[in-house]
Amino acid sequence: MEKRNFETDAIRAQSERSSNREHSVPLYLTSSFVFEDAEQARALFADEIPGNIYTRFSNPNNTEFIEKMCLLEGTEDGIATASGMAAMYISMASLLKAGDHVLASRSVFGSTHQILNVIFPRFNISYSYADIADPNSWESKIQPNTKMIFVETPSNPALDIIDLEWLGKLANKHKLILNVDNCFATPYLQNPVKWGAHLVTHSATKFIDGQGRVIGGAVLGKKELIKEVRFFARHTGPSMAPFNAWVLSKSLETLAVRMERHCQNALELANYLETHSEVLKVKYPFLPSHPQHQLAKKQMKLGGGVVTFEIKGGIERGRKFLNSLKMLSHSANLGDTRSIATHPASTTHSKLSEEERLAVGIMPGLVRVSVGLENIQDIINDMEQAIKASS
Ligand SMILES: *Cc1c(COP(=O)(O)O)cnc(C)c1O
Repeated sequence: MEKRNFETDAIRAQSERSSNREHSVPLYLTSSFVFEDAEQARALFADEIPGNIYTRFSNPNNTEFIEKMCLLEGTEDGIATASGMAAMYISMASLLKAGDHVLASRSVFGSTHQILNVIFPRFNISYSYADIADPNSWESKIQPNTKMIFVETPSNPALDIIDLEWLGKLANKHKLILNVDNCFATPYLQNPVKWGAHLVTHSATKFIDGQGRVIGGAVLGKKELIKEVRFFARHTGPSMAPFNAWVLSKSLETLAVRMERHCQNALELANYLETHSEVLKVKYPFLPSHPQHQLAKKQMKLGGGVVTFEIKGGIERGRKFLNSLKMLSHSANLGDTRSIATHPASTTHSKLSEEERLAVGIMPGLVRVSVGLENIQDIINDMEQAIKASS
């Protein structure tokens, strides 16, 4: 088939029509599938032929969603999971064993930190953190038992950018699996495999759904790695519900247009905040003031839908600001049509110590804004009145 563009694949890659000739793909709410005969059942279980057996293993809706994700990320294979955390967990647990070590960027998602810090040590899997701002320190932290590098870029909520090309080379030099949580960028803005990543993990709950409805995730990557991940998932059961896969496959059809507007609104909001006298610091990858702006431009198509800023007056002012918002939602999610403001220090990253928070750039007064698709002037107006009301 002729090479098609992102938007076209996101819309036109769909499962084959059934005999009903439906235009839009139906929802397959079935826990199992019927065998044609004893020989077909045997061949299916022996992995000799493709086909569905049981929805914990595969389902037409999951297959459609994941095949589309593979096309959009440029990966060979993939698996859909019940949540983003199921994706993070199985992408590591299926490929690591007792005695192994993971090198991770310090600013990983809160629950990923809990996996590395609390859950994996019970199974004798250890980790080290390296700082994005200090790339020279990474190589010296690789141990003889290191198996995987796990990073998030842009990171949540600090919006730090890691050089994926450099990291891809480092991983290959030491024969490590490079696993990139691409949740903040989505496949529309960044394709980590292009720079050498072996696995790409997603929380589809965020921008991929984009409308705050369902939880889901994906692990994508090279065939031989996904084979291990699939084995692990099939027998431990973190599969995505067909309904969520159906919703998410539809969501992908509009991902490109939504991301364009998220990014346009986010850049306008970042520009407004940067010149505001009550704001100390704004961070957004496509602002020239971002410390890794050039790098962001190299590996991302646009700056993403999240802006962070520090309001003058510390934690108390930050809380007052959040309580003064009239339109923006105060919620822990991100990547929604509705703009959402969050105070990471007291919510999403409250399980980290104060010291750990500061090490990943979470100042007490830091506010994270997931910029939605409302008219940008209405978003700015609400921010402006809340900044005034909290002073
Ligand atoms: C939300 C998020 C996750 C977890 O995804 P869930 O779908 O909530 O399980 C993982 N990584 C990042 C960067 C996230 O923002």
